[in-house]
This record gives sequence, structure tokens and C-alpha cells, in this order.
Amino acid sequence: MNPTRRRPTVVTTTRTTRPSPTPPPSTAAQASLYQQLRSHLAVLKLHDAAEHLPAVLDTALAEGLSVTAALERLLAVEVEATEARRLAGRLRFASLPTPATLDGFDYDAAPGVDRNLISELATCRYLETATNVLLIGPPGTGKTHLAVGLVRAAAEAGYRTYFTTAADLAARCHRAAIEGRWATTMRFYAGPTLLAIDELGYLALPAEAAAAIFQVVSQRYLKTSIVLTSNRGVGSWGEILGDTTVAAAMLDRLLHRSVVLNLDGDSYRLRAHHAANDTLRRTTTGTRQPLT
Ligand code: ADP
Ligand code: MG
Repeated sequence: MNPTRRRPTVVTTTRTTRPSPTPPPSTAAQASLYQQLRSHLAVLKLHDAAEHLPAVLDTALAEGLSVTAALERLLAVEVEATEARRLAGRLRFASLPTPATLDGFDYDAAPGVDRNLISELATCRYLETATNVLLIGPPGTGKTHLAVGLVRAAAEAGYRTYFTTAADLAARCHRAAIEGRWATTMRFYAGPTLLAIDELGYLALPAEAAAAIFQVVSQRYLKTSIVLTSNRGVGSWGEILGDTTVAAAMLDRLLHRSVVLNLDGDSYRLRAHHAANDTLRRTTTGTRQPLT
């Protein structure tokens, strides 16, 4: 008989009648364990950890990481992704009108602003004592920039924040009163740890709007902080609010625990405008005779 024809039969018999002397590498078992781990991560909704599992396992093997170190690395991926998602959510909720940051504030252009005070505010410690921040100054001096920067810093530190303008707050309260949602709306403005109210004073407010802002300030008093910006000194708030009694009561609550920053330099917008003009003038006088 031709031996080459018999061999396959022998091999087949051997395989089916007894286990292989050296068990096959445990890849099948490992694969099933791996799938189980992935499924655990999916059930627990640890999607980022699941996604990074192969890479972390590869690194663990390559670098000879301990089980503890590998687990730490895997969960750190999930924690980082969760924190990034939460921050993005807080920033979305904050409704910031510009990308301004405290780091981007140019102190040379704002000589009246105390750099140390802003650094202290950037730590967000004032939120723990429900201290308010009042930014007062003419247009273009960086009030909104600082208010946005403070709100962003608080959101980054994990606080719930919300940015609005006095006019928007008043309009929303007005609609809420008409639609019977006053209490819900007041709860909404009481919620964030930091509420920024921008541009008080650009528009004279009807009595009803002044009452709404007063109520928002009152219910937050000594509990949570407000950053408020105004182009008018506090002495003129009676005019803005159309009622000196409401203005006095509101100021009383706002100022009781507060930091007041007076921004009284030149308008940053106009500085940029003047600088552009100066550059233009320098370039043109280089090529042409100045006008006389
Ligand atoms: P205000 O609210 O006082 O009218 P803004 O904060 O809106 O002024 O400032 C106007 C523009 O100038 C914004 O783009 C702001 O980012 C910029 N700006 C104002 N002051 C500064 C500053 N000191 N450093 C950097 N940018 C500034
Ligand atoms: Mg502004």
C-alpha cells in the first residue's frame, strides 16, 4: 500500500480519539475572555475604555505592566473621556457669547485692573463664599471679556454656570410670567453656582424687568455668586432700574459680599482701531508727503 495515501487517515484518527499532547495555545480561551471583558465594558457603558482595550493590553504586554498598572491605565482613559464630556456639557450649558479667557486678558491694556485680584478670582474660591463680582466701566474696556473668562474658569473647575445679559434675563422672565412659568424660571436662575449678568444699564429697564432682576439677585443672595457688568456706576442704577428703592435693595445684596472692579481705561476696541490708524499713517507717510 502506498504510505503516502494512508497517512491522512492515521492523522485524522489520532485527532478524534485523544487530545493533542500539547494543548493548543489558549488563544480560543483568551479570545473568549477578551470578548467577555469587552462586553462587561459595554454593559457598564465604559465605551472609551472598550475602545482603548486592545491598545492598553498591547502596551501592558510590551512594557510588562502589572495587572494593577494595566487596569489603572484603562480606567484612566475612561475617566479622562468622562471629564472631557462633562466639561463640554457644562460649557454648552454656560452659553458663553465669546471664546474669551482670563489668560487672554491683556493687563497692559487695562492699567486699572489688578492682575493679582484676577488671579485670585481665577481660583474660584470666591464661589465658596457666594461673593459677587461687579465689573463697572465704559464700553470696550473688557468687562464682558472678564465675565466670560470668570464663567469659563468656573466651568472648567467643575461648577455649573450660566451667562446671560440683563436684557435677555428680563425678556425670558417676561415670557415666563405670561406663560405661567415664573417659578420654574426663577429656579432656573437660582440653579447655577455662578450666574453672569452682562450689560446692565445699556437699556433702561421697565419696572417689571427690574423686579425680575431684583428677584434673581435676592434668591441667590448669600447662596451663590453673580458676576455683573455695567457701563454705569452704581450711583446711576436708580435710573437704569427706574426705581431708586429697588436699585438700593439690589445693590445692598450685591455689594454685601463683593469684589468691585472699575475698568476705566481706554476702549480696547478703539485702541485696536487707533493702532491700525497709526500703522496706516506710518506706512503712508513713508511713501507720500503728509498732508499739510
Ligand atoms: P466691554 O464689555 O467692556 O464693552 P469687551 O469685553 O466686549 O468690552 O471688549 C471688547 C473687545 O476687546 C473684546 O473682543 C475683548 O476680548 C477685547 N478686550 C477688551 N479689553 C481687553 C484686554 N484688556 N485684553 C484683551 N482683550 C481685550
Ligand atoms: Mg460688554
